[in-house]
Amino acid sequence: MAVAPAVAAGKNRMDDCLFCKIGGGNIPSDKVYESETFFAINDINPQAPTHILIIPQIHHATLLDVEEKDHALIGSVIGVANQLAKERGLDESGFRLVVNCGAGAGQSVFHIHFHLLGGRALNWPPG
Ligand code: AMP
Ligand code: ZN
Repeated sequence: MAVAPAVAAGKNRMDDCLFCKIGGGNIPSDKVYESETFFAINDINPQAPTHILIIPQIHHATLLDVEEKDHALIGSVIGVANQLAKERGLDESGFRLVVNCGAGAGQSVFHIHFHLLGGRALNWPPG
């Protein structure tokens, strides 16, 4: 899906948001992927051998804040996740794509992000 210029990188960033700061380059990071729509970084506290955060360039605090007009854009995370997973051989071994929505589900950074986890056996149900 083409990304409209209005939602391209740099728009809708929040001054007090960690992931907006990282996305904008105000905090150094080891980006493993970047496009107009998403960037991805290794999680600072990895829960699996591969633990990447795929983060929309546009700020939404939680999944519940994503309006219908942005569903296609946010949904295009699937393509990013598949690409990163394949690059790491996780298409063979399996992987998990997780969003924690709200503090009760373990969300600690209130700019939505998708955890891409793999490289070990992943149990179900999650904790
Ligand atoms: P969540 O708890 O779902 O909101 O996930 C937030 C994730 O961000 C956690 O897994 C943290 O380890 C990770 N995290 C926090 N600060 C950083 C950072 N500066 N760089 C990379 N990952 C981070
Ligand atoms: Zn943000």
